[in-house]
Amino acid sequence: MAARILYVEDNAQNMRLVRKILTATGYTVLEAVDGLSGLSVAAAEKPDLILMDVNLPDISGLEATGRLKADATTQHIPVIALTANAMHGDRENCLAAGCDGYLAKPVMKAELLNAVESYIKFKSDMGVSASVSAASGT
Ligand code: MN
Repeated sequence: MAARILYVEDNAQNMRLVRKILTATGYTVLEAVDGLSGLSVAAAEKPDLILMDVNLPDISGLEATGRLKADATTQHIPVIALTANAMHGDRENCLAAGCDGYLAKPVMKAELLNAVESYIKFKSDMGVSASVSAASGT
Protein backbone atom coordinates (compact mmCIF):
# COMPACT_ATOMS: atom_id res chain seq x y z
CA MET A 1 0.00 0.00 0.00
CA ALA A 2 1.26 3.45 -0.87
CA ALA A 3 2.51 5.41 2.11
CA ARG A 4 0.10 8.16 3.18
CA ILE A 5 1.49 11.58 3.90
CA LEU A 6 -0.44 14.41 5.53
CA TYR A 7 0.63 17.88 4.44
CA VAL A 8 -0.56 20.72 6.66
CA GLU A 9 -0.15 23.92 4.64
CA ASP A 10 -2.16 27.13 4.21
CA ASN A 11 -0.39 28.30 1.05
CA ALA A 12 -2.14 26.89 -2.03
CA GLN A 13 0.92 27.18 -4.23
CA ASN A 14 3.14 25.22 -1.82
CA MET A 15 0.38 22.65 -1.39
CA ARG A 16 0.10 22.20 -5.16
CA LEU A 17 3.86 21.84 -5.64
CA VAL A 18 4.42 19.34 -2.83
CA ARG A 19 1.30 17.36 -3.76
CA LYS A 20 2.54 17.10 -7.33
CA ILE A 21 6.01 15.89 -6.29
CA LEU A 22 4.68 13.34 -3.80
CA THR A 23 1.86 11.91 -5.92
CA ALA A 24 4.20 11.62 -8.94
CA THR A 25 6.47 9.52 -6.72
CA GLY A 26 3.60 7.23 -5.71
CA TYR A 27 2.68 8.59 -2.28
CA THR A 28 -0.88 9.31 -1.26
CA VAL A 29 -1.28 12.90 -0.03
CA LEU A 30 -3.79 13.96 2.61
CA GLU A 31 -4.27 17.70 3.01
CA ALA A 32 -5.15 20.18 5.73
CA VAL A 33 -5.08 23.98 5.46
CA ASP A 34 -4.65 24.88 9.14
CA GLY A 35 -3.36 23.44 12.39
CA LEU A 36 -6.61 22.32 13.96
CA SER A 37 -7.88 20.55 10.86
CA GLY A 38 -4.42 19.00 10.56
CA LEU A 39 -4.83 17.55 14.05
CA SER A 40 -8.26 16.17 13.08
CA VAL A 41 -6.97 14.52 9.92
CA ALA A 42 -3.94 13.10 11.76
CA ALA A 43 -6.15 11.58 14.47
CA ALA A 44 -8.68 10.18 12.01
CA GLU A 45 -6.34 8.91 9.30
CA LYS A 46 -3.10 8.03 11.16
CA PRO A 47 -0.87 8.92 8.19
CA ASP A 48 2.62 7.42 7.87
CA LEU A 49 4.24 10.85 7.94
CA ILE A 50 3.24 14.48 8.48
CA LEU A 51 4.76 17.48 6.71
CA MET A 52 3.96 20.48 8.90
CA ASP A 53 4.14 24.09 7.78
CA VAL A 54 5.21 26.19 10.76
CA ASN A 55 3.29 29.38 9.91
CA LEU A 56 -0.40 28.46 9.92
CA PRO A 57 -3.44 30.75 10.29
CA ASP A 58 -4.73 29.31 13.58
CA ILE A 59 -2.29 27.49 15.86
CA SER A 60 1.34 27.31 14.72
CA GLY A 61 2.77 24.16 13.21
CA LEU A 62 4.99 23.82 16.27
CA GLU A 63 1.98 24.02 18.60
CA ALA A 64 0.19 21.43 16.44
CA THR A 65 3.24 19.16 16.56
CA GLY A 66 3.41 19.49 20.34
CA ARG A 67 -0.22 18.37 20.58
CA LEU A 68 0.38 15.40 18.25
CA LYS A 69 3.38 14.32 20.32
CA ALA A 70 1.40 14.66 23.56
CA ASP A 71 -1.32 12.34 22.26
CA ALA A 72 -0.60 8.61 22.62
CA THR A 73 -2.58 7.82 19.46
CA THR A 74 -0.52 10.12 17.20
CA GLN A 75 2.87 10.51 18.91
CA HIS A 76 4.47 7.72 16.82
CA ILE A 77 3.84 9.58 13.53
CA PRO A 78 7.01 11.30 12.31
CA VAL A 79 6.61 15.05 11.76
CA ILE A 80 8.84 17.04 9.41
CA ALA A 81 8.51 20.80 9.90
CA LEU A 82 8.60 23.11 6.88
CA THR A 83 9.38 26.75 7.48
CA ALA A 84 10.00 29.79 5.35
CA ASN A 85 11.88 31.45 8.19
CA ALA A 86 15.22 29.71 7.76
CA MET A 87 16.78 31.69 10.54
CA HIS A 88 19.25 30.69 13.18
CA GLY A 89 17.51 28.75 15.92
CA ASP A 90 14.64 27.50 13.77
CA ARG A 91 15.94 23.97 13.67
CA GLU A 92 16.31 23.96 17.45
CA ASN A 93 12.79 25.38 17.89
CA CYS A 94 11.34 22.68 15.66
CA LEU A 95 13.13 19.86 17.42
CA ALA A 96 12.25 21.28 20.84
CA ALA A 97 8.58 21.29 19.79
CA GLY A 98 8.81 17.57 19.05
CA CYS A 99 9.40 17.59 15.30
CA ASP A 100 11.41 14.64 14.01
CA GLY A 101 12.94 16.58 11.15
CA TYR A 102 13.13 19.96 9.53
CA LEU A 103 13.13 21.34 5.98
CA ALA A 104 13.64 24.97 5.02
CA LYS A 105 11.45 26.49 2.30
CA PRO A 106 11.57 26.80 -0.60
CA VAL A 107 11.41 23.04 -0.60
CA MET A 108 13.60 21.41 -3.24
CA LYS A 109 12.28 18.26 -4.87
CA ALA A 110 15.31 16.03 -4.18
CA GLU A 111 15.61 17.26 -0.60
CA LEU A 112 11.92 16.67 0.06
CA LEU A 113 11.93 13.17 -1.39
CA ASN A 114 15.11 12.23 0.49
CA ALA A 115 13.61 13.34 3.78
CA VAL A 116 10.26 11.67 3.15
CA GLU A 117 11.87 8.44 2.00
CA SER A 118 14.17 8.23 5.00
CA TYR A 119 11.25 8.47 7.46
CA ILE A 120 9.02 6.08 5.52
CA LYS A 121 11.88 3.61 5.08
CA PHE A 122 12.83 3.76 8.74
CA LYS A 123 9.27 2.90 9.64
CA SER A 124 9.08 -0.06 7.24
CA ASP A 125 12.48 -1.32 8.45
CA MET A 126 11.09 -1.31 11.97
CA GLY A 127 8.15 -3.36 10.75
CA VAL A 128 10.44 -5.89 9.08
CA SER A 129 12.71 -6.34 12.08
CA ALA A 130 9.68 -6.71 14.36
CA SER A 131 8.25 -9.52 12.23
CA VAL A 132 11.66 -11.23 11.95
CA SER A 133 12.16 -11.32 15.68
CA ALA A 134 8.59 -12.53 16.16
CA ALA A 135 9.23 -15.38 13.69
CA SER A 136 12.53 -16.40 15.32
CA GLY A 137 10.85 -16.49 18.70
CA THR A 138 8.58 -19.37 17.70
MN1 MN B 1 2.05 28.95 6.02
